[in-house]
Amino acid sequence: MKYIDEFRDGDLARQIGARIAAEAHPDRSYSFMEFCGGHTHAISRYGVLELLPPNVRMIHGPGCPVCVLPIGRIDLAIRLALERGAIVCTYGDTMRVPASDSLSLIKAKARGGDIRMVYSAADAMAIARANPQREVVFFAIGFETTTPPTALAIRDAAREGLSNFSVLCCHVLTPSAITHILESPEVRQLGTVPIDGFIGPAHVSIVIGSAPYEHFAEEYRKPVVIAGFEPLDVMQAILMLVRQVNQGRAHVENEFTRAVTPEGNLKAQALVSEVFELRPSFEWRGLGEVPYSALKIREAFAVFDAERRFDLSYTPVADNKACECGAILRGVKKPTDCKIFGTVCTPENPVGSCMVSSEGACAAHYTYGRFRDIPIVAASAATEEVTP
Ligand code: SF4
Repeated sequence: MKYIDEFRDGDLARQIGARIAAEAHPDRSYSFMEFCGGHTHAISRYGVLELLPPNVRMIHGPGCPVCVLPIGRIDLAIRLALERGAIVCTYGDTMRVPASDSLSLIKAKARGGDIRMVYSAADAMAIARANPQREVVFFAIGFETTTPPTALAIRDAAREGLSNFSVLCCHVLTPSAITHILESPEVRQLGTVPIDGFIGPAHVSIVIGSAPYEHFAEEYRKPVVIAGFEPLDVMQAILMLVRQVNQGRAHVENEFTRAVTPEGNLKAQALVSEVFELRPSFEWRGLGEVPYSALKIREAFAVFDAERRFDLSYTPVADNKACECGAILRGVKKPTDCKIFGTVCTPENPVGSCMVSSEGACAAHYTYGRFRDIPIVAASAATEEVTP
């Protein structure tokens, strides 16, 4: 298949792996964070780590949209269905994320909540049109990739006068999360999460372009390589990062030239800024409150904002004490550091959000089991202080 098979060529992958091994200096280590869950999935699924030399290691980032959704936000959606009688529509993975009181959206559905899985915001609009007597809320999650379709749905609903449709907006922003990680004590002061560079997400970058990453490269002296989600994309990105580190460079480079441009999709960006504005602060699972890291619906479209329409107020809820998702999403721990990984917590019975989606670090590790047990330096000691 064009653009698939040629990026999964095992011989080529081994050649790139040999090149990485040849160019990585044996007297130093290289730690790169793959921000996006799509890369985490590809790394586990295709055994990318097995092709890397021992001194090149990958750290999972917080770029899995389901994983970073805090419990309090899922509780809001559940309350809309169970207490306010709304039809709540959302993407499939979101249905299984554990919430308060041993609930999830799918368990709330079993209790009688009218909660429906949809493939798009447009599907939710169709449900609203078919049920004019009911309130229909689209529980919108995701990074910059899923934001434009939500913006389009809100704008279309306004033009159409679809008065029973609204959106519970939980869209979050990639650059703010990367900045937050780079500013975290583990990276800046404690040095427990050594990051020499980032693999940037392809799909997000198709929308926002490569320019927004220039800040990290310049300000924090961290190279960024935007890469596709096939194994050869990831291998090539790692090689490009190793070369930048060796040359003392910190630039934004684009491996995914087949779709990413510096300026991104200007039409999508204009649509998003017409409908959304920045939230001053938003809670992420694992990262806590992150300033200006999420979007809210502009005043002009307030009638489609479920938070205003239903007068919702957000209450933060602590994660399950046994769950290490927070530390994993910060790059401080890895899935196998969690005492209940693969025993109490499995994809069939997820205790934390990282075991839900195939992009979640725990689910990827559990499903493919092809990972090398690389200890993260001094992680345990640092994490004891910060894990809830
Ligand atoms: S294995 Fe389950 S409980 Fe442990 S960190 Fe992963 S998702 Fe959380």
